[in-house]
Amino acid sequence: ATADIGVTGLAVMGRNLARNLARHGHAVAIHNRSPEKTRALVSDHGYEGTFVASESMADFVTSLKRPRAVIVMVKAGQPTDAVIDELIPLLEPGDIVVDCGNAHFLDTRRREETLREHGLHFVGTGVSGGEEGALRGPSIMPGGSAESYQKLGPIFESIAAQVDGVPCCIHVGPDGAGHFVKMVHNGIEYADMQLIAEAYDLLRSGLDATPGQIADIFREWNRGSLESFLIEITADVLAHVDGRTGRPFVDVVLDQAEQKGTGRWTVQSALDLGVPITGIAEATFARSLSGHAEQREAARAVFPVTNELAWAADDREGFIEDVRKALYASKVVAYAQGFDMIKAGSEEYGWNVDRGATATIWRGGCIIRARFLDRIREAYDDDPELPTLLASPYFVKAVSDGVESWRRVVADSARAGVPTPAFSSSLAYFDGLRRGRLPAALIQGLRDNFGAHTYRRVDSEGAFHTLWGSDKTESAAR
Ligand code: NDP
Repeated sequence: ATADIGVTGLAVMGRNLARNLARHGHAVAIHNRSPEKTRALVSDHGYEGTFVASESMADFVTSLKRPRAVIVMVKAGQPTDAVIDELIPLLEPGDIVVDCGNAHFLDTRRREETLREHGLHFVGTGVSGGEEGALRGPSIMPGGSAESYQKLGPIFESIAAQVDGVPCCIHVGPDGAGHFVKMVHNGIEYADMQLIAEAYDLLRSGLDATPGQIADIFREWNRGSLESFLIEITADVLAHVDGRTGRPFVDVVLDQAEQKGTGRWTVQSALDLGVPITGIAEATFARSLSGHAEQREAARAVFPVTNELAWAADDREGFIEDVRKALYASKVVAYAQGFDMIKAGSEEYGWNVDRGATATIWRGGCIIRARFLDRIREAYDDDPELPTLLASPYFVKAVSDGVESWRRVVADSARAGVPTPAFSSSLAYFDGLRRGRLPAALIQGLRDNFGAHTYRRVDSEGAFHTLWGSDKTESAAR
């Protein structure tokens, strides 16, 4: 046994992760169900480090030093269970199985429990950054036992993205915590992308600007507080010209956004946890709406679009700045909601996730990497119990500075008929949080009226019910 760590599943992600490990001096055992991928890795990249190749799972396990650490990087879902079932009888107590696939955190909790019964550690690990990240340094979010992190931590930290000398990897928390946090990361990514897309749409119709001109605006924005990977690649995509037609690339792409499901998982879990992640939800639904071609066509036929073009052209600079501020404020809301969700999940499952540290490991490697995350880390460092990110001094200032712009953009886009679901729902969320009294009081009254669901009062403890059908007297509910 000579290998420090093993990787089974050598499609794009597994192959690159194995290469990254080898390049950092770890001897890597490699295995894939069909041996061609294993052979290809050795022949194409064998010179990059020490690979110990096996064609059977049994040989693969035997090639690992104990306690063994096996990374599973296969298709998420049933294939992951199949590989784990194959591994269990080959491993010994104390060994570690790491699932780096995109598993649902509830599956990870189930698998962790099963493996624990066999004396094995199961480490559900979120990996972000796509294939490029896997090779050059991803953001790594391992869950599982603290004991397993003693072995895995130094290895993972060595291959993770580094920002200011700090690796983008922490032990997130027990069992499913890593995959949960990765899921929320992807949810935030959905919101971020939707906000960017709305900003583009506003600039395009409000200014009657070309994609190339808008690319320049994004490039400019990337020099300020919005600086991030997604803003940077937005400029690249908008500037790209289709090779076949010579038209802007965005104009030849079918306008139906697809999804692999992590946004949907985030929204589903948020509903279970009772966390209003409206930005992520709107982003997920906006993708669904875009895909309903038949309904879109039917609506277009009966409600012809009369959008004014260049409705904001009188004050170009002012409008661009309004959109920038609205984007920033909406983004703060989306992140505030995402971090609320992490807190809720952490409390529900007893994970004790450190939100400031989570912000730290998203600064590099992953898709939502951004300058902004330093501000979030500082906010949680100053007050780990912060009730909402929106209440931290830096973000109070950022949102206060932007709120008038934000209102103008949402109002003007509504008037012009340009949909801004994420911009407007984020503003509604913000206003909902800060409103003195919410009409939720009326909803409670209605619920009590039709269903005797009871209500609480502002002036006394306990629950009450009004006899709506008779003399409308109030009684204390049991
Ligand atoms: P795929 O999700 O396309 O999975 C292909 C790999 O799974 C191959 O190695 C394949 O083996 C193996 N596999 C499939 N079914 C079985 C099975 N029943 N038994 C054994 N092996 C099986 O590969 P990716 O590299 O794209 O992704 C790997 C994991 O990483 C997935 O869970 C994915 O969600 C996750 N991920 C992907 C990212 C990305 O950007 N692609 C980013 C972050 C995470 P064979 O060659 O024999 O068919």
